Amino acid sequence: MSARVLVVDDVLPNVKLLAAKLTREYFDVITAYNGPEALEQIRREAPDIVLLDVMMPGMDGFEVCEKIRSDPATMHIPVVMVTALSDVADRVRGLEAGADDFLTKPVNDIALFARVRSLVRLKMMMDEWRLRESTSGHFGVIERAGTLQSESHERGRVLVLEDSALDVEKITETLQRDRAEIVATDVSAKAMEQALAGDFDLVVISLTLLNEDGLRLCSQLRSQDRTRQVPILLVADEGDLTRVAKGLELGANDYVIKPLDRNELLARARTQLRRKRYQERLRSNYEQSLSMALTDSLTGVFNRRYVNAHLPRLLERAIESNKPVSLLMFDIDHFKVVNDTYGHGIGDEVLREVTARASRHLRTFDLVARLGGEEFIVILPDSDGEAALLVAERLRDRIAGSPFEISAEVGSIPVTVSVGIAVGGRAGDTAESLVRRADEALYEAKRSGRNCIMSEAAQAAAPAR
Ligand code: GH3
Ligand code: MG
Ligand code: MG
Repeated sequence: MSARVLVVDDVLPNVKLLAAKLTREYFDVITAYNGPEALEQIRREAPDIVLLDVMMPGMDGFEVCEKIRSDPATMHIPVVMVTALSDVADRVRGLEAGADDFLTKPVNDIALFARVRSLVRLKMMMDEWRLRESTSGHFGVIERAGTLQSESHERGRVLVLEDSALDVEKITETLQRDRAEIVATDVSAKAMEQALAGDFDLVVISLTLLNEDGLRLCSQLRSQDRTRQVPILLVADEGDLTRVAKGLELGANDYVIKPLDRNELLARARTQLRRKRYQERLRSNYEQSLSMALTDSLTGVFNRRYVNAHLPRLLERAIESNKPVSLLMFDIDHFKVVNDTYGHGIGDEVLREVTARASRHLRTFDLVARLGGEEFIVILPDSDGEAALLVAERLRDRIAGSPFEISAEVGSIPVTVSVGIAVGGRAGDTAESLVRRADEALYEAKRSGRNCIMSEAAQAAAPAR
């Protein structure tokens, strides 16, 4: 994992030492010796992570962190505060200033790489979501994701695997300050069962179990789709850092050392909860904006934008594999009369019912889209003109065959559609020409009296009915 790390410290040997350790692990290291210089480097070099000393003359680490967080261009860059061992209050203040994590001096290698790797991994994932979010933002609908720090760390569902009753009590009591809901067990298999059954925000795994190895749960959680993303916090003895390192390699996110410092445990649990929630928000924003941008809000089927993006690729694939793809373009007959007679609301109801009837009985990869107004398209991959004609006839019949039952006093309305068919898939075929040909066939169907089907190939023949 090649990532760019900015090391900020006013003491030259501190910078040199951290830089050397990170370079040895193939990180790309840049340095700064005071606050303003750090901000300058961040703007210029766009690092993936910042290791920030707290005590610096002039602008201290808290202020630098706040400045990073308040600039939209840099607010997503992870910041790790590096504090002296004794400053518990500083750690809390650092997290409040927007730091993502903290390290204590003298910096232990395992701790350093654990936090840097975990944060870099997270940033890369977030960069990916942010990119997608900005792409889907181009579609015009997006609710900003907010920031990592604005996520709640309260009311997390936490699963604890620990066989020391004393430590279970300590963890429970500490996390309950944030109104966490705790499920504790001392058997690894039970923990896995619980994890698969419930939606947990954090799993705390002890590596000091008497009869079992907590690392097993670690790897099991990472091997199942259902639990792959759940944050894991390890609890270990000072002397067991090798197994901690192993756990981090297996995918654990962070660790704390016994005897547990309540403030540290709470801070690290909070960090994991916030990150998980932020990631989930990015993902759901993306999915939501995507579905809002590419589907029609009235009928729920795909919209023209989706067809424009999808059809060229589909056609390309059809040409490559030498298979036909058919389009049915259809349009409600005299729909204006429905609107004029019963009002727009009833018109909308008819549009929804037409969509429902058209979507029924299609194959998995067939696709219905509303192009706009009362004009729709059905895309039939892997279907020739003959197959398309059958589908079109079924579609026409499902709509004309029984009148639409409409709400309120209106009762039932007869509705019909006209359908145009075009078949694509020959070399040189384009989506535009395919759509245009289907549209021309539809126009012919309208001219031939409506409630009928015209195929581009059979335009000279009598309309199918
Ligand atoms: P034809 O048989 O030639 O297709 O006649 P038509 O009346 O269906 O076609 P025309 O294009 O003249 O009218 C379409 C009408 O569809 C006009 C417009 O008000 C209505 N319409 C377009 N979008 C919507 C919508 O979202 N909801 C409703 N209720 N009506 C819509
Ligand atoms: Mg119409
Ligand atoms: Mg029309």
